[in-house]
Amino acid sequence: MSKRVGDIGLIGLAVMGQNLILNMADHGFTVVAYNRTVEKVHHFLANEAKGKSIVGAESIEDLASKLKSPRRIMMLVKAGSAVDSFIEQIIPYLDKGDIIIDGGNSEYTDTQRRCAELEKKGFRFVGSGVSGGEDGARYGPSLMPGGHKEAWPYIKPIFQGIAAKTDGQPCCDWVGEDGAGHFVKMVHNGIEYGDMQLIAEIYHLMLAIGLNQAEMADIFEEWNKGELDSFLIEITTDILRYKDTDGEYLLPKIRDAAGQKGTGKWTAIAALNYGIPVTLIGEAVFSRCLSALIDERHQASKQLPGPEINFTGDKTQFVKDLQQALYASKIVSYAQGFMLLKEAANVHKWTLDYGSIALMWRGGCIIRSVFLGQIKRAFDKDPNLSSLLLAPFFLKAITKAQKGWRNVISTAVNLGIPTAALSTALAFYDGYRSERLPANLLQAQRDYFGAHTYELLGQEGKFVHTNWTGHG
Ligand code: NAP
Repeated sequence: MSKRVGDIGLIGLAVMGQNLILNMADHGFTVVAYNRTVEKVHHFLANEAKGKSIVGAESIEDLASKLKSPRRIMMLVKAGSAVDSFIEQIIPYLDKGDIIIDGGNSEYTDTQRRCAELEKKGFRFVGSGVSGGEDGARYGPSLMPGGHKEAWPYIKPIFQGIAAKTDGQPCCDWVGEDGAGHFVKMVHNGIEYGDMQLIAEIYHLMLAIGLNQAEMADIFEEWNKGELDSFLIEITTDILRYKDTDGEYLLPKIRDAAGQKGTGKWTAIAALNYGIPVTLIGEAVFSRCLSALIDERHQASKQLPGPEINFTGDKTQFVKDLQQALYASKIVSYAQGFMLLKEAANVHKWTLDYGSIALMWRGGCIIRSVFLGQIKRAFDKDPNLSSLLLAPFFLKAITKAQKGWRNVISTAVNLGIPTAALSTALAFYDGYRSERLPANLLQAQRDYFGAHTYELLGQEGKFVHTNWTGHG
């Protein structure tokens, strides 16, 4: 009997790899497992993998020898040089047409490079976003594969088989060429940063108006039954309710300095590189950076004065306004994220299906929400939609939210509560809906000090310079 029994090989037996293997085995696939530190293979086979359709490999050569043709090999290892190192090690054991999949959080530019290099050598490469953390990997992640499209028919049954399902549809589809899958995953992570920051600012405002934690938890629980229904609102409710072993709430005891692994920053950098105003994700990243300056903040808090005002308004009404502010800001954040996707698709000639991307994020991943179903519907109705803000559903929602949203921002300013993400969302909204912005003055200043020229209204394309210190 052939020893080439494996439907897919998986390299990397850390939390994501192990759970994805178990998920694949549950769906009837035979998986060959390998890890740089081989003892982890032995441990996995003797424990979690016991009795399942999972085979171990002692070396890369052994892994390759146990896979059906064309070989499908997925890596779930630390992004960066580990991915390049495994690609290099495995190539001598592959046949032309074999498929290498990178499921880690790789930078999309690395995926573009790997695609080009492997194509020249006759192999197929897929860079796939995998979202949903440990639980998602085990029971249904959101998967965003991109790269060499000829690989898709071979991996589709496995990927769509193990992915989360929403309304019976898999949260996984082919995204696009070369780095498209990892780009979409990067924007997903950036949006995750934005969603989290918005919720944190709402929590801060709830504290400022004097709500206690039980009241906050009840409000988030209620919100989770409506238009804000999402995984992040759900876990926020759980976190707010959680009590430590001493019977006290755990949340206030947690050091208020946020960490980050980089994908939010990459999204903000990409937005700057492509010239797209993805302001909310940028502010979410900077807010984490500001929180991390914890010692400086402690010093400054003793010296820099703020307004000495307490909230005296109607709390019940203000909570309704908070809900509207959160919803409207979320709409702006997703509108910005999809603007970035459109521009990158334009630059790299990727054919992205925005409705399908919304569906991939609808379930399985950290940003999963009911709201993404509305985004899918908006793009299904009009695939060429220039901005989500102009889709009738969201236009109506944001119009309704506007009054409360503005009240939240002005109240936050008066109370001295920082709301970088909520505020930038409103500033973007006001900028985007402005027929006229003060950029005429910027152009005049640029021309004044640098002779950069400007265009006159109605004379686009004709650039003129003025000697601003001479006579008019
Ligand atoms: P991880 O901690 O990012 O990586 C550990 C794995 O990488 C181990 O198998 C380790 O092998 C291997 N590795 C590390 N450095 C290596 C090197 N220089 N050469 C060869 N192998 C090396 O694992 P993870 O959290 O399961 O994540 C895997 C990938 O999925 C990462 O890219 C991560 O960013 C992405 N991801 C993670 C999550 C999550 O929730 N954790 C969610 C989505 C995506 P050894 O055992 O030999 O050290």
